[in-house]
Amino acid sequence: MGGGPCVVQVVPLLGVRSLAARTFDYLVGESADAAPPSVGSVVRIPFGRRRITGVVVAHGASGAVDSSRLLRAEVVGPEAVSEDLLELARELSEYYLAPWGACLRAVVPAHLLPAASGSSGRRVTWVRPIEGADLDACALTPRQRSALAVVPDEGLPLADVCRLTGVGRGVVQALVEKGALTATGERVDRPRSVGGVPRPDCPEGGAPAARPRLILSAEQQAAVDELSAALETPDPESRLLWGVTGSGKTEVYTRVFERVVDSGGGAILLVPEIALTGQVVERLRARFGETVGVLHSALSPGQRAAQHREIAGGRARVVVGARSAVFAPVPQLRVIVVDEAHDSSYKQDEEPRYDARTVAWWRVRRVGGLLIEGTATPRVETLVGGARPILLRERPTGGALPDVEVVDMRRQGGVRVLAPRSRRALQETVSRGEQAIVLLNRRGYAGFLHCDHCGHVPMCARCEVSLTYHRSRNGLFCHHCGFQAPTPGLCPVCGEAALARGTPGTEKLADELRGYVPEDGLFRLDSDVVTSGTRVREILQAFGRTTPAILVGTQMVAKGHDFPLVTLVVVADADTGLYLPDLRSVERTFQLLVQVSGRAGRAAHPGRVLVQTWNPEVPCIRMAVDRDVQAFYRDELAARERLGYPPFGRLIRVLVSSREEARAQAGASYLADRLRPHLAEGSVRGPARLPRLRGRARWQLLLLGDDAERSRHLLARAAEQLRAPYARRGVDLIIDVDPQWSA
Ligand code: ADP
Ligand code: ZN
Repeated sequence: MGGGPCVVQVVPLLGVRSLAARTFDYLVGESADAAPPSVGSVVRIPFGRRRITGVVVAHGASGAVDSSRLLRAEVVGPEAVSEDLLELARELSEYYLAPWGACLRAVVPAHLLPAASGSSGRRVTWVRPIEGADLDACALTPRQRSALAVVPDEGLPLADVCRLTGVGRGVVQALVEKGALTATGERVDRPRSVGGVPRPDCPEGGAPAARPRLILSAEQQAAVDELSAALETPDPESRLLWGVTGSGKTEVYTRVFERVVDSGGGAILLVPEIALTGQVVERLRARFGETVGVLHSALSPGQRAAQHREIAGGRARVVVGARSAVFAPVPQLRVIVVDEAHDSSYKQDEEPRYDARTVAWWRVRRVGGLLIEGTATPRVETLVGGARPILLRERPTGGALPDVEVVDMRRQGGVRVLAPRSRRALQETVSRGEQAIVLLNRRGYAGFLHCDHCGHVPMCARCEVSLTYHRSRNGLFCHHCGFQAPTPGLCPVCGEAALARGTPGTEKLADELRGYVPEDGLFRLDSDVVTSGTRVREILQAFGRTTPAILVGTQMVAKGHDFPLVTLVVVADADTGLYLPDLRSVERTFQLLVQVSGRAGRAAHPGRVLVQTWNPEVPCIRMAVDRDVQAFYRDELAARERLGYPPFGRLIRVLVSSREEARAQAGASYLADRLRPHLAEGSVRGPARLPRLRGRARWQLLLLGDDAERSRHLLARAAEQLRAPYARRGVDLIIDVDPQWSA
């Protein structure tokens, strides 16, 4: 670097396909003596009329440039992206055909990124209880009392209070006027924390209690031994830990982490969502104390920065987090565990559309480490090739797996929601002072409305989907784009007063169950009630503390919580996901049933599961009920093989969208025509039309074949060419490699 500032090549962190892999030259540094920022440094750059963030990927100019005309980049933080994470970003962009900038964004320490506008920085009104308020003097109404009861000492967004308790804002405002609550004005919506970092699942304020060391069961010991052996080999290894729900997988991970930490290594534990992850963090902290780092989306920038320093500095050696924690800059990384590895949240549904399980494998492959996928219901893909799964068939606590009974809904005299047998079972459970979980994978009050006279169904104005009726918000809502409309009194088409409600959702179900438990024993968990990870945690913790209690919710309730007092699980509609036009609908239905069944009878109490279904003879339901896991996987693998579906063929999904139907269709046909001659017969499927969403027409292509490398290469070229004729005229392209959803 001769005198004066030096030139670096920067990749702007934009998810723009048209920039593909381009770099841009900038000047950095004030004087000749200052060392140039290292490769991997994060910089702020002028770009067009904006200032945006970028990453330095090389020193020196990319070509012959007149450096006096270059603009200046400004280094934003002392932390730089490490070399192996830079390479990982590159690999990500090649495999997923994703813009390099978007992939770099995934590996940049999140606190160096400008705060996203939108949800994370939203300003909302918070309310908190007034200490020592004389509630008797306040003369509260029952509704006010129930609203007050949900507000924790740290406060809660006002909107959450309304949502949780179903009261209007006026009720909460009255509480403020009566001096029971203060409204803390506008405040940034950020979850509370204990100390520097939120500690999910810790008892308020205190450090986690030390726990006695468990004595491993023989199966657990064998698993630990095998995993430890795999850890010692210099080659990268991958193992499936296939353990029934409650078989103590967490304890197995913990023992493996102990070895890693003792020998100076680091570990990452990926979980589907921190808030839905039961007591994992608490258990790890009890074992590893302050060396546990926790990463999740609800951290404030300051907390993130602190966590990043702890992790990169090698002080936090065991890092727990959701999907994006797969990029945690752990030094001496030896093992990555993907817990509940079947969960679809490991796939990111925006650019880059990576699967954290795949990226986890890339990371351990670089360092000769170990990947452990733990689950009770593996994805079918994981069962092909590779080492034999490590099985945990029993629960070390001795708790038997629950009895599963089918409730045939065709013989319930037209009951729509809960069959008499399910109602009785709920009543019995409650009367014994125990807890029950009711799963209904459909939120809202009553599905869509339809006119009994003319058949009209109110649809979203922007999406080709029906609107869902929500009673508490008194309106019709689109679950895709948030469109809302008032509930019509008469059919807007024929004018008859014949609007009927369709299939009930969680909101209606919760209403129906109101009389079954005391008021404070009914909990609801779905994305209408849940506004943040903190809320999920609060609801689950409150449920865990309450007896008797019923928790009603969507599939969120099926995830890995450990509630010892739950003795009954009712699956209100086992068929909901069965007929989705998706190659994994059968697998998902099976997984959901097995997972939710695993929530019952986890401790000393025996459990019971009732599965309500209209299709009791459908194989995946029958096999889930009989817990005939082997048969299910054998059949499903055979079906996949016959159809050439993953893992026997690789799938790439291409979605072309536009406001104009004809453009979307033409764009998809253009791609299909360019790909078809070069790929095996039958491996280009479509274009097929999908329902409009958010005002955009959508046409889809599926590329299926054993030569994914070739498809990817051809697709990259075709996409490049598509851009020229179509891009500037409002055609959008999504490429999803290894999609988790095929429709
Ligand atoms: P999984 O993740 O496989 O569903 P968990 O790890 O949550 O199971 O364990 C289920 C329960 O069993 C937990 O309460 C855990 O403390 C307990 N447990 C695990 N291993 C043992 C053991 N060896 N002895 C006694 N209890 C155990
Ligand atoms: Zn919509």
